[in-house]
Amino acid sequence: MKKLVFATHNHNKLNEVQEMLGDGKNLQGLYDIGCKEDIIEDGLTLEDNAKIKANYVFNTYGISCFADDTGLEVEALDGAPGVISARYAGEEKNAEANMNKLLENLHGETNRNAQFRTVIYLKTDTQELLFEGICKGQIISQKKGTKGFGYDPIFIPDGYDQTFAELSSEEKNKISHRGLAFQKLVEYLSKTNND
Ligand code: IMP
Repeated sequence: MKKLVFATHNHNKLNEVQEMLGDGKNLQGLYDIGCKEDIIEDGLTLEDNAKIKANYVFNTYGISCFADDTGLEVEALDGAPGVISARYAGEEKNAEANMNKLLENLHGETNRNAQFRTVIYLKTDTQELLFEGICKGQIISQKKGTKGFGYDPIFIPDGYDQTFAELSSEEKNKISHRGLAFQKLVEYLSKTNND
């Protein structure tokens, strides 16, 4: 594999994808290339934000790069919180406050359909590709479980009767939006000689 950057400061995310790639030794994170700044994600869609991050790295450092962005899309709220999932209740990115706001906005609503959606954008000298992973489920009205992060305590994936916050990380990764999107990326990278 040629040199490739995953536009993330998150070591866990980086290690996870490195492991999935097997031959992940040429996969680097933002710290590895000396990029310490927070890239401003001010896009209007998940796709925009993934592109902003990957293009920033490609244009600044001249290295092939991919970036991800994830949001929780609730049907009864026309897809909100979506691209602002992390900051739904304010800039402090507080998961409890975000869940409370979502539960308030869904109070009395019978349509509890929702999906997590992850988008990955890959930018190389010759290619611009998007990969997507979706996990559909329901928003429950009371938080359950202590594992995971973000909206996990109020999301039950289809086919399960436990929230993401009650499932083990192995179980969650098998069916999660992020897991599915990264599987697609890894499959693509394994088949091609990325340049
Ligand atoms: P990011 O793009 O992975 O940083 O995700 C943006 C925001 O979406 C996070 O801050 C969480 O609020 C929410 N989110 C993303 N993935 C998950 C998940 O797997 N479970 C719960 N919340 C998530």
